[in-house]
Amino acid sequence: MDPVIQAAMDARGNAHAPYSKYRVGAAVETENGTIIEGCNVESSSFGLTICAERVALGAAITKGHQSFKSIVVASKDGASPCGACRQVIWDLCGNIPITLIDEEGNQESMLIGDLLPKPFDNRNLSKVTDLHRDPPAH
Ligand SMILES: [Zn+2]
Repeated sequence: MDPVIQAAMDARGNAHAPYSKYRVGAAVETENGTIIEGCNVESSSFGLTICAERVALGAAITKGHQSFKSIVVASKDGASPCGACRQVIWDLCGNIPITLIDEEGNQESMLIGDLLPKPFDNRNLSKVTDLHRDPPAH
């Protein structure tokens, strides 16, 4: 089995999902072939829950990785990343392949750009240089 897929499936086993019981694992492959995993970590105040994709990418960034080749998300039914994760994957990884896998091993692959058409990103921010001017005098 592809080691990135295996890593995502293994990470799913570590998910902290006592409230939803919806366990998710993710694994990101860095440009140099390192594989870094994440799992969802739920909080009793649900809004603080962190998705597996963002845990994996945060861990990768923490270890100094800045370039990514692919990401895999493993869940019960091969769910797609939430909107927040799509944005963060796009921001940190660009238009990389993403594979979704369910617990029976069924896979579906696409590009992040297919999941996040017309993304907001640093190209938009570069257009708002006016924000960096001094405030108007009173
Ligand atoms: Zn998410």
